[in-house]
Amino acid sequence: MTNPALPQVPGVALLTGGSRGIGRAIAVRLAADGFDVAFCYRGDHSAALETAKAVEDLGRRVFHRAVDVTDFDAVRTFTEDAAKELGPVDTAVSCAGITRDRAAALMSPTVWSDVVRTNLDGAFHLSRCVLLGMLRRRHGSLVLVSSVSGLQGNAGQANYAASKAGLHGLGASLAKEAAGHGVRVNVVAPGYIESDMVASMSARARARAEERIPLGRFGRPDDVAEAVSYLVSDRSAYVTGAVLRIDGGLAI
Ligand code: NDP
Repeated sequence: MTNPALPQVPGVALLTGGSRGIGRAIAVRLAADGFDVAFCYRGDHSAALETAKAVEDLGRRVFHRAVDVTDFDAVRTFTEDAAKELGPVDTAVSCAGITRDRAAALMSPTVWSDVVRTNLDGAFHLSRCVLLGMLRRRHGSLVLVSSVSGLQGNAGQANYAASKAGLHGLGASLAKEAAGHGVRVNVVAPGYIESDMVASMSARARARAEERIPLGRFGRPDDVAEAVSYLVSDRSAYVTGAVLRIDGGLAI
């Protein structure tokens, strides 16, 4: 139910990978900012229900579905159904991502392409499905969630780093294509962020990583959500084609 105390909805935000971790924090933050929220995820239904409840508790409408972002037709149907349910998409965030770490010399083509198809093709699929409507309405904002690995590379993550570096080329190109039509496209590049993705790190690897972070700690999903909130709002009206590192100084 809509909370009458909240300001009028600034629009509809749609994101991939909204069930857990950084994606959930973004969904909840954008709901707190006043957006109705559509999100997809791969298969963790109970996590998705938790995100949905958090959005509804803020008085916003929510639409969610299990959709594999590697499947273009499924992403297209999801974005169309979300728009029918909530209204035209004003803001989109590509957040779904996976890692399958292995030394490149031992990496199978399947492990390579699983990661590239999810992280890079998935972002293109989302962009392809939401951008045309934004361009026609001459209004909108798109954010791609990359990684510091995409800027610097990372041993054991050739597939992941390549997929994230690809997002920088995708984001810069889309920003140039869309700027004349009132649509902004930006990239955030998180460093180490507390989530299921880093939970499997050994204590030793974690301590070594923390030593390399000038601000001395791993980030929180909310640190990334704060940056996304800024990039999709008018506070960043003169920012497009940017890559904003959220990494405690890791990549300095
Ligand atoms: P999590 O593993 O916690 O969550 C991943 C999210 O992506 C889940 O919602 C998952 O759905 C969804 N997802 C995965 N594959 C698919 C798919 N094929 N189709 C649809 N949804 C999918 O990850 P984080 O929150 O840590 O990461 C979110 C993003 O931030 C990723 O792009 C990641 O690369 C990036 N990032 C994370 C960093 C970190 O340190 N955590 C650092 C830098 C970047 P389900 O719950 O159903 O599995």
